[in-house]
Amino acid sequence: MTDITQHGSCLCRQVTYTTTHALGPVTACHCGQCRKQTGHYAAATPAPWSSIELTGEVNWYRSSPQGRRGFCGICGSYLFWEEGDGTVYLMAGSLDGDTGLSMDAHIFYADRGDYYRATDGLPCFAAGRSGPEVEA
Ligand SMILES: [Zn+2]
Ligand SMILES: [Zn+2]
Repeated sequence: MTDITQHGSCLCRQVTYTTTHALGPVTACHCGQCRKQTGHYAAATPAPWSSIELTGEVNWYRSSPQGRRGFCGICGSYLFWEEGDGTVYLMAGSLDGDTGLSMDAHIFYADRGDYYRATDGLPCFAAGRSGPEVEA
């Protein structure tokens, strides 16, 4: 069997993690909360918490009733978006080395900053994936 272990870390490496989950496509989220937290937009891939081994202390900010945002309290790197159902979205930029992953969609595109547009031809959803698509 192929080893699919992926490693991740924050900028200062106080927080590191590994997952043995086969990671799927990366989704770009342009919502107002991701804008504020990242300074641009977030790109993340989901994994079950049960597949993740974590070292170091993650700080959590409950930004909405649906979930909370995990970041390093030292360097501020945004690492995790956790939903109530036990799924955690790993910020793709926190993965170490080559991931072999690709982005497949933009969500909450209607909330993006007005200073850029998606130019990759991927579907852009106004809000969540279950809703309507909009022009990039
Ligand atoms: Zn850090
Ligand atoms: Zn978002």
